Amino acid sequence: MNHKIAVFPGSFDPVTLGHVDIMQRVLSLFDKIYVVIGINGNKVPLFSVEQRMEWLKAIFRNESRVAIAAHRGLTIDFCKQVKAGFIVRGLRNSTDYCYERELAQVNRDLCSDIETLFITSTPQYAHLSSSMIRELIQFQADVSPYLPDIVRF
Ligand code: ADP
Repeated sequence: MNHKIAVFPGSFDPVTLGHVDIMQRVLSLFDKIYVVIGINGNKVPLFSVEQRMEWLKAIFRNESRVAIAAHRGLTIDFCKQVKAGFIVRGLRNSTDYCYERELAQVNRDLCSDIETLFITSTPQYAHLSSSMIRELIQFQADVSPYLPDIVRF
């Protein structure tokens, strides 16, 4: 297992400044980070997988250590596929913490070689969530302050 490879999984529906902040802060820790869009049959996304991938690729186009992918199935299986030793997740608040702790434990049960690394959000982004942004979009609110410049629709 190569411990210099990480996976940052999420829905990224859409990618926000909070996600980008987490990525920028973990980049120096790894040789390669895969940003992986989880395809979940139970969730109906607002933006297509293709659109979300396009935005992520544009945001990290100058960062050769970042690869963008989409995956249907368990994150752990994607990690094994690319020989990643770490899963990166962001923590905004205690709700995230409780959920993420359980998820990390389940992933550890599935594969004890892969460690979950938590990065706490920068306070200015701690209130940002893709779900809140999706709700605002449906009511035509201006969400541009929360999104990377490239994310426009
Ligand atoms: P998921 O549906 O898997 O939670 P998200 O795209 O909502 O996917 O989030 C992916 C990861 O990014 C999660 O670890 C989440 O906690 C983290 N994250 C999302 N928004 C922020 C933010 N504003 N600050 C820090 N981390 C965040």
